[in-house]
Amino acid sequence: LSPVPSDIAVSRAQQPKPIDVLAREVGIFPAELDLFGRTKAKVSLDVIKRLDHVTNGKYIVVTGITPTPLGEGKSTTTIGLVQALGAHLGKNVFACVRQPSQGPTFGIKGGAAGGGYAQVIPMEEFNLHLTGDIHAITAANNLLAAAIDARMFHEATQSDEALYGRLVPPGKGGRKFSAIQLRRLRRLGIDKTDPDSLSPEERKRFARLNIDVKTITWQRVMDTNDRFLRKIEIGRGAAEKGHSRECQFDIAVASEVMAILALTTGMADMRDRLGKIVISSDTEGNPVTADDIGITGALAVLMRDAIRPNLMQTLEGTPVFVHAGPFANIAHGQSSILADKVAIKLVGPDGFVVTEAGFGADIGMEKFFNIKCRYSGLTPNAVVLVATVRALKMHGGGPPVTPGAPLNAAYLNENLELLGKGCDSNLRKQIENANKFGVPVVVGLNRFSSDSPAELDLVVKKAVEYGAFKAVVADHWAQGGSGAVDLARAVADACSQPTNFKFLYPLDKTLASKIETIAKEIYGADGIELSPEAAEKLARYEKQGFGQLPICMAKTHLSLSHDPSRKGAPTGFTLPVRDVRASVGAGFVYPLCGDMQTMPGLSTRPCFFDIDIDPDTEEIDGLF
Ligand code: ADP
Repeated sequence: LSPVPSDIAVSRAQQPKPIDVLAREVGIFPAELDLFGRTKAKVSLDVIKRLDHVTNGKYIVVTGITPTPLGEGKSTTTIGLVQALGAHLGKNVFACVRQPSQGPTFGIKGGAAGGGYAQVIPMEEFNLHLTGDIHAITAANNLLAAAIDARMFHEATQSDEALYGRLVPPGKGGRKFSAIQLRRLRRLGIDKTDPDSLSPEERKRFARLNIDVKTITWQRVMDTNDRFLRKIEIGRGAAEKGHSRECQFDIAVASEVMAILALTTGMADMRDRLGKIVISSDTEGNPVTADDIGITGALAVLMRDAIRPNLMQTLEGTPVFVHAGPFANIAHGQSSILADKVAIKLVGPDGFVVTEAGFGADIGMEKFFNIKCRYSGLTPNAVVLVATVRALKMHGGGPPVTPGAPLNAAYLNENLELLGKGCDSNLRKQIENANKFGVPVVVGLNRFSSDSPAELDLVVKKAVEYGAFKAVVADHWAQGGSGAVDLARAVADACSQPTNFKFLYPLDKTLASKIETIAKEIYGADGIELSPEAAEKLARYEKQGFGQLPICMAKTHLSLSHDPSRKGAPTGFTLPVRDVRASVGAGFVYPLCGDMQTMPGLSTRPCFFDIDIDPDTEEIDGLF
């Protein structure tokens, strides 16, 4: 229809096919499917084993130029592209996308199921609870948080002998260590299995974690934008008197458990990563892990169902996995490796898996290659770099945009000068960056109704000049898959090219030099400047044995530099690294370049004002 109706109106106008029918069409066996109602299902990881002999399909990552408030449409393009490949070119396809947090859904951004005629449906199912994965993450995260404070409390209030006696109580067959306790003993170098044979000194070492409260990095989480939980004091009950401390809540998708779900390669690996989570240092500076707390198995149990990808569909009936959605700054911002792995087997050698990376290419694509592909072992065949005329004009020096105010004429009328400058700076740099990984880049120019033919031609011409394999205008938002057929052909073409995929840095360089490589090569910085705190942390992590981890930069997504106001492709700057943290379970070290907000707030006019339910039909309104 023209004009294109609201996202929810388009979504609701299409009747989704029963999800078990879709599962059958794509080769999933009934025994591999757990239905959640009629439009969602969880898919067993057994598919990977069953189809082990099948050659992988082509693997495509969708990323974008540096984001602006004008929007680029990466999710919309991901969905439009698979609709074109699947429903119009008859290929086997899968889209793999992130599960949105309820924070932005009720806060400022609204849903994230794509838009216009390129969406995952039903969008209300997609944007709300889905199959409960985020709730499982919240439960696992908070069980660990509760365990940390309880453990400190017990250590503070009990003698060595009493503590040991309670940690290893006499049972039916006498005292016994659990498997998790035996692992802790081995880490302590105590080679004993009979609890009664430990010396008093060994009992004390075993029983006391001596958590250094100042170093605790594990926080409580919930999936709501609740700014009043950004700093809280816990332990004010009568029984915990004297043990109160300041801490914070983060939004659930900022939890390391979410990053683990996104990066894990199977149940054993997930349990292993959950156990490796470092929650603090002890008073001697050694890392304290979730395994030391004794909680690894329980966390894995809470995550048992969440590990399986969720099957949904696009408006045109092609399959989509919605699985995991970690933050893109303090984490790597990608959908799950497992969804990609299941999908890449299901589509087979002639098929295509299109996966989306959060933020612009300097962050999302860099982390996709250097973190996600490193852990998955999957080799990408093509990059789709999404750009829009309007956003490029802003990179070319266009005026700032005020939310709610009418758009400046520069964005609505033809302006080849601003556009050309945006192409010469941001588009050029992001294409050059993508080419550094040895994978062909297709620029997908997401068409807005205000774009003029001369403007569209200019971007296409310049993109190819800068080294894009192809550049194509795509109109899936207004036309669905049929509007992205040219893009789909270009992508298929790119995937038939030989690739020479390489990582940007080897893992065995020092952490500081890995950070410097990203800053110089990808952001265009002259170098990095480590604060004393950051330098101290890097030294500590290397000493603790975490120096081999890849880097996950926590930087603003609004500029290639660390300053969100600098558009285009800034040069002549030094990247300041304020602090460094580690997500050892997920498997990366994250330098903080600026303040990263891990608990959003609600604005004066949040999205929830518009959300309602029809009491008769139970239809949801107001999600967009
Ligand atoms: P991103 O993934 O880059 O954050 P999305 O794909 O979620 O962006 O799109 C953001 C918003 O912009 C959505 O509401 C979508 O409907 C809208 N949008 C995307 N492409 C277009 C377009 N070509 N014309 C108009 N609106 C669009």
